Amino acid sequence: MSDMSMLINGLKVSAEKGATFERRNPLDGSVATRAPAASPADAVLAVEAAAEAFKTWGESGPTERRNLLLKAADALEAKMGDFVQAIAAETGASGLWAGFNVHLAAGMFREAAALTTQVGGEVIPSDVPGSLAMGLRQPAGVVLGIAPWNAPVILAVRAIATPLACGNTVILKGSENSPRTHGLIIEALQEAGFPAGVVNYVTNAPADAGAVVEAMVAHPAVRRVNFTGSTKVGKIIAQTCAKYLKPVVLELGGKAPFVVLDDANLDDAVNAAAFGSFANSGQICMSTERLIVDSKVADEFVKRFAAKASQLPLGDPRKPDPVVLGSVIGMGTVHHCNELIDDALAKGAKLVCGGKAENTLMPATVLDHVTPAMRIYSEETFGPVKCVVRVSGVDEAVACANDNEYGLSAAVFGGDIARAFNVARKIDSGICHVNGPTVHDEAQMPFGGVKGSGLGRFGGKAGVAEFTELRWITLQTTPRHYPF
Ligand code: NAD
Repeated sequence: MSDMSMLINGLKVSAEKGATFERRNPLDGSVATRAPAASPADAVLAVEAAAEAFKTWGESGPTERRNLLLKAADALEAKMGDFVQAIAAETGASGLWAGFNVHLAAGMFREAAALTTQVGGEVIPSDVPGSLAMGLRQPAGVVLGIAPWNAPVILAVRAIATPLACGNTVILKGSENSPRTHGLIIEALQEAGFPAGVVNYVTNAPADAGAVVEAMVAHPAVRRVNFTGSTKVGKIIAQTCAKYLKPVVLELGGKAPFVVLDDANLDDAVNAAAFGSFANSGQICMSTERLIVDSKVADEFVKRFAAKASQLPLGDPRKPDPVVLGSVIGMGTVHHCNELIDDALAKGAKLVCGGKAENTLMPATVLDHVTPAMRIYSEETFGPVKCVVRVSGVDEAVACANDNEYGLSAAVFGGDIARAFNVARKIDSGICHVNGPTVHDEAQMPFGGVKGSGLGRFGGKAGVAEFTELRWITLQTTPRHYPF
């Protein structure tokens, strides 16, 4: 069990009145972490520290910021063992998933380091004689990043890396399910040597999330908010941000379609579908949730997919044998997925592998012949339970892929690349991969969704645009003519 601190103005601090909350291991209920339960007043202290630090950090040069971000990447990787342990204890995820998280998150710090010289601008031709007109990007101010537990290192680093690169100061609000894992990122940033107040860390008890978040959003120094999490909470955050007119990037839920056309290479499709469906037990926003398969190849695809899925190792990630499927985050996921399985079976779906779970070690499960009448056709499982919908031809496949409230990631498998590409163009999603899995992230790519999956983009120059102010500044170089 680890006792945690928050970080405010460079100091490790407890919450007001020493309040704490516990995160328990999802599999055996043992206390994994005890963390400070911040009050709204604590959260305001973090904003004030960040606002003060912005006065200097906002003026820092790109080399200073780049060097610190590069050191943070190294410090993060050096903590690999601690991350593997903390992630297994707090979220139940596998060592494979923890390693992938640390590796990609370190890459995000390095990409952010490269972005420090990309916070630029342009000279824009003006109709006023002698006016030098510029569009200049400047740091926005204090940025609040709110991260979830499911890809805990990647998503928390993403919430703060580009904002820091742009010259903003940040507050990370950690997840109640992974306060220690998020705290390790903060330790890496401290070891890198970020000045006091540039990076702040706040943790809260689950019941206080709304009040703590609103206290920060309401503060005038907070100029940008980003949130990764469910669509339900994303809408609450959007309303809070609207109340105080704060721009917000929202990366929300998904129900990624994986389309298999009649000319797809089925072995490639099965490998990509299994990876996208079952990595981290399906608890990834980009997880393959719907397999939309042309009926001409559906029998063969389902047979091979089920064979692969049923062989994936499942078990307690804290034990020595490596697993693909560890524990899911809690019994809420088990009950939700069991309900979706019952509903689908009652309405005529066929179970081809796996089945209902009794504890958080959930097997890879595939339901075939799923129809729009079944809840699993539309609802995010956020677990290792997948549905196959059989369709006839390209138009039905596209219509089915778009028949959903979400639009984050998607994939299309097909031998005729031009046809598959045209299907990809017609799918309503922020991201789509032809002959690749739905789960794919790289630090420099524009990452984000449409429809119920959110607003705005992380990654690369798109991220710079989100976390800077674009200002119009003119310099009048000759006497100007006025009408009176
Ligand atoms: P969640 O929305 O329940 O919680 C996320 C965060 O919201 C937590 O930090 C919590 O403190 C905060 N929160 C909860 N209630 C709040 C309130 N009333 N006001 C303000 N903040 C509040 O999400 P989760 O269950 O932890 O994560 C899973 C969801 O996240 C899935 O739907 C998944 O698809 C989505 N997700 C999306 C992406 C993406 O990039 N689009 C990535 C990962 C996960």
